[in-house]
Amino acid sequence: MTVRVCRACDEPIADPDDAVLVWHQESMSGPGRDVWAHREHSDLIQPDTGLVRVLARVLIAKAMQSGD
Ligand SMILES: [Zn+2]
Repeated sequence: MTVRVCRACDEPIADPDDAVLVWHQESMSGPGRDVWAHREHSDLIQPDTGLVRVLARVLIAKAMQSGD
C-alpha cells in the first residue's frame, strides 16, 4: 500500500477518508503520480504545475546559455 503524503504539510495521511486527490501530476519518465492532501489542507494548495514548468524551462535555457 502506498503512503499518501499531504502536499500542504508533508505529513503522511493516515486516514484514507481524510485524503483528498488534489491533482494528477504529469511525469516525463512515467505515467505521473497523484498528489494528495489532508481534507482540511486541500484548500491551501494551488495547482501551479504549469507555472513551475515554465520557470523550469527558463532556468534550463539560462543554464545552457551561460555555459562557456
Ligand atoms: Zn496536511
